[in-house]
Amino acid sequence: MTDDVADKLAAVNERIRAACSDAGRPPDAVTLVAVGKAQSDERIDAALEAGQRIFGENYVQEAQARWRTRRRHYPDVELHMVGPLQSNKAGDAVALFDVIQTLDRPKLASALRKEIDKQDRSPRLYVQVNTGEEPQKAGIAPDELDAFIARCRDEHGLAIEGLMAIPPEGEEIALHTAFLRKLADRNNIERISIGMSEDYETAVRFGADLVRVGSAIFGPRPRKE
Ligand SMILES: *Cc1c(COP(=O)(O)O)cnc(C)c1O
Repeated sequence: MTDDVADKLAAVNERIRAACSDAGRPPDAVTLVAVGKAQSDERIDAALEAGQRIFGENYVQEAQARWRTRRRHYPDVELHMVGPLQSNKAGDAVALFDVIQTLDRPKLASALRKEIDKQDRSPRLYVQVNTGEEPQKAGIAPDELDAFIARCRDEHGLAIEGLMAIPPEGEEIALHTAFLRKLADRNNIERISIGMSEDYETAVRFGADLVRVGSAIFGPRPRKE
């Protein structure tokens, strides 16, 4: 059940390189974040054995259980939080993650600041943007983004490495990627995280720096979230 993970991972990496080449970007311009939510640990192990080191997780507890021991065996693993983060989990998240991609409200910014000081540990931070302005979706509305970033920087002293978005299903990923890039440029932010299994190649062509890919590597998620 897991021996196909290495093949799928290699195929995704190859497609990312091809998309970079199409777009005239360097072959290593893009970071692949392998998203393991709801996948079996065996599949994660298969990806580790195949050389993947950058992983995304959606739930703090699932990530703690999975990575506590694996990290000792693979100290060069880099963990990204890509799921919604409650402020009361900020301490656990700062302790565990190297990158938090889902900073999406002032209360969380202030909780992260406190934990960063307390733990003397600074995960790199991405602000999640609701580019589709969907009422049910997390993320800062585009027209509130500049003020939120200013507040993160000035009030909380947080450095923002990138912007992250989960565009609405069925909408043109190219437009959302270009829009997210524009929002990043306007705020002097370098990196954008956008693109998943269905659309990562297009996202790469239109300038994504990080893509977050789950099922195209690990197969369909066995349990419903
Ligand atoms: C699940 C998830 C992904 C990966 O989705 P796939 O369609 O399986 O590639 C990427 N980003 C976020 C935020 C997710 O929750």
